[in-house]
Amino acid sequence: MEQIIDACSTTLGILGKPKSSGGGSRLASYCVSLQTEDGVLLFNVLTREMLLLTFAEFDAALSSAYLQERWFTISEDQSEKELAELVHWVRASRRREPKHITKYTILTTTDCNARCFYCYERGCARVTMQPETADKVVGYIQNHCGGNKVKLRWFGGEPLMNFPVIDRICDGLRSRGIGFESHMISNGYLFDDELVAKASHSWELKEVQVTLDGTEAVYNRSKAFIYRDGSPYRIVTGNILRLLNAGISVVVRLNMDLNNADNLMELAKELAERFSEQKQLHVYAHLLFDTEGAGEKRYAPSQWSQLYEALHRLEDFLSDHGLSAARFRGLRRELPLSHCMADSGNSVVIVPDGHLGLCEHYTDREFFGHIDSDEQDKDMVASWRERCDPVAECGDCFYYPECTELKKCTARMECSGHVRFALRRDTERAMQNEYRRWRMEKAADQSKNE
Ligand code: SF4
Ligand code: SF4
Repeated sequence: MEQIIDACSTTLGILGKPKSSGGGSRLASYCVSLQTEDGVLLFNVLTREMLLLTFAEFDAALSSAYLQERWFTISEDQSEKELAELVHWVRASRRREPKHITKYTILTTTDCNARCFYCYERGCARVTMQPETADKVVGYIQNHCGGNKVKLRWFGGEPLMNFPVIDRICDGLRSRGIGFESHMISNGYLFDDELVAKASHSWELKEVQVTLDGTEAVYNRSKAFIYRDGSPYRIVTGNILRLLNAGISVVVRLNMDLNNADNLMELAKELAERFSEQKQLHVYAHLLFDTEGAGEKRYAPSQWSQLYEALHRLEDFLSDHGLSAARFRGLRRELPLSHCMADSGNSVVIVPDGHLGLCEHYTDREFFGHIDSDEQDKDMVASWRERCDPVAECGDCFYYPECTELKKCTARMECSGHVRFALRRDTERAMQNEYRRWRMEKAADQSKNE
């Protein structure tokens, strides 16, 4: 038996020593096993420990004292759900609220030069941040970052439709000695050589996320840019190359529904060919679903199966061609206490008129304050921390210790067999990544000692 990742000591401390009930034992449902050519990887989602067992050790798992002591195997009558809830409750009660805000998602404008059919900002007023508001944003960041380096995310609308406020905020932070780096969610259309140079040197831009919805004809139709000349697809893919050549990472998000699933595979092939030399390009697929909450109900069950099969085929292709963002993803060393920016306590969304929110999907409501004031709507903050109630399947779901879905999250898929299968695939992929890394480190250590 080899230990690939040690357990989280806090969680082990909370669980203490297992009590022997004298009855039979079983592998806990929060354990994920994965066969490799060298044996079986066994990952404990609750304690975060990962082991490599020989096939014989795995077959004899129920009689292993170590696996019992470390909560891989538990007594027949033990409830995994109760164990996970105990760990979560103790860790949540010990959690200290972050003292400073170090992550700022800043909407420079809610205006956009594209008209995507799925945009959740459809129907929202188009508001553009004024220079005076940008100056106040700098002041707000200075007053709340505690002198720490901050991460900025430029968001919109299309953030480049109002890039002068990006200049203004970056210059303001620099002049006050506040360190920062930035990321951007953009459709990529407006980048040119001058803006890319500015982004790299003045905005400290490290990564841009760009969405592509299909190959040239499909993309040009679904984005419906306001410009009449040229092919937006060619412009945007050219700009992706421009960014990569300037050393800025690009994450391409492929928005997928049943209509474009096959076409996205064509697009993935194009990207693999065109960007084969680019190590800073990552691609991932994202399922589009009804943002009004209809979620799983929008498709018939067979259509969901079709969609998930297409998603998994696409993910496998991206992974095999070294494009997958998940190829670097490992396993968290501790269970998460928050879900995302909305409940993290160290992150805010600043919309163009200076209102403060917690979730980037709300640009005209759900505010808890304003940059002009220190007053906070505490009920609003608390409402963004409410977790979803468990469903019947949670009881023996491997993912329960890690599942942090928020009631108000609009990006949440209703839990289903497909969702759980996808989560297991992601976990298995992360296990493989960790194992690969461990083997490389071990080989490097061995060759050093020879
Ligand atoms: S993935 Fe679904 S079943 Fe599993 S823990 Fe989360 S909500 Fe429960
Ligand atoms: S949509 Fe959901 S995951 Fe995204 S920021 Fe809002 S709450 Fe978080």
